[in-house]
Amino acid sequence: MTEPTGEFSLIRSFLERWGDLAQGIGDDGAVLTVPEGHKLVVSTDSAVEDVHFSRDHLTPAEIGYRAAAAALSDLAAMAAEPIGLLFAVVLPESCQSDAEALADGVADAARAAHCPIVGGNISRGGELSITTTVLGSAQHPLSRSGARAGDRLFVTGRLGGASEAVMAWKEGREPAAQNRMAFARPTPRIREARWLAEHGATSAIDISDGLAADARHLAEAGKLRITIDGDAVPVADGASLDAALSGGEDYEILFTGPSSAFGEFTKTFNLMLTEIGAAEEGAPELEVRRKGEPIAVPSGYDHLARR
Ligand SMILES: [Mg+2]
Repeated sequence: MTEPTGEFSLIRSFLERWGDLAQGIGDDGAVLTVPEGHKLVVSTDSAVEDVHFSRDHLTPAEIGYRAAAAALSDLAAMAAEPIGLLFAVVLPESCQSDAEALADGVADAARAAHCPIVGGNISRGGELSITTTVLGSAQHPLSRSGARAGDRLFVTGRLGGASEAVMAWKEGREPAAQNRMAFARPTPRIREARWLAEHGATSAIDISDGLAADARHLAEAGKLRITIDGDAVPVADGASLDAALSGGEDYEILFTGPSSAFGEFTKTFNLMLTEIGAAEEGAPELEVRRKGEPIAVPSGYDHLARR
């Protein structure tokens, strides 16, 4: 970790709290080894107060956890195994006393993903923000572009809970407990996505922008038409299909592959897997149908990020 004046004791406290999870910290840079024959997969993600989260709704530990989990979810989407996480935080004066809880939350997410924390940075600043950089390795990283015509489209878990929680907060309501958890404690599907890649998934993305927007990303990258049966979409309890289609921040895995390849998934991970559509020859577009008829996909679902 690098330390601006006065931050050293905070860094020392972080390292004590992280214990064995912190690795290779102390030199000017971390040195990592990628297993022979693997590729390095890198991603970074920023969580900014009042854009991605509000301190009115989440505890400091949840803010840290969520920031790290969102970044780790991008490694999941690539079917990569995490090998390191770097954590850069900007702390306003009003957050000084929350710094350790924040670091504990980051550590929770990293520990759950078996990902060492290999570096970071602390800076004072005007608003709370956390930038998490994750490093992973994979022999065959899964991309957004590998879908083939005839593939089926699948999604893990249930969708819409996280954005339903955000809607509740915006309307001055307390969200249902499971939807609040979906927002505050998303689970990066790391083991699950590696299994899917090994069992024949052809393309994948993690759902951060919403099912419809992320399905469009797969259509564009794969140069294929994607259809979704809206009646098949697994909607979280207490959430709407609109929230599932357009809400985002679910951090489930949306992927394509052959129809019969993933029968053992639910038994292996105790997690729902739902076939929701198909990839077909055609212009790279998304069509969502209900009862066989195309429907308009709601856009700009209300969001902290869009207010
Ligand atoms: Mg992503």
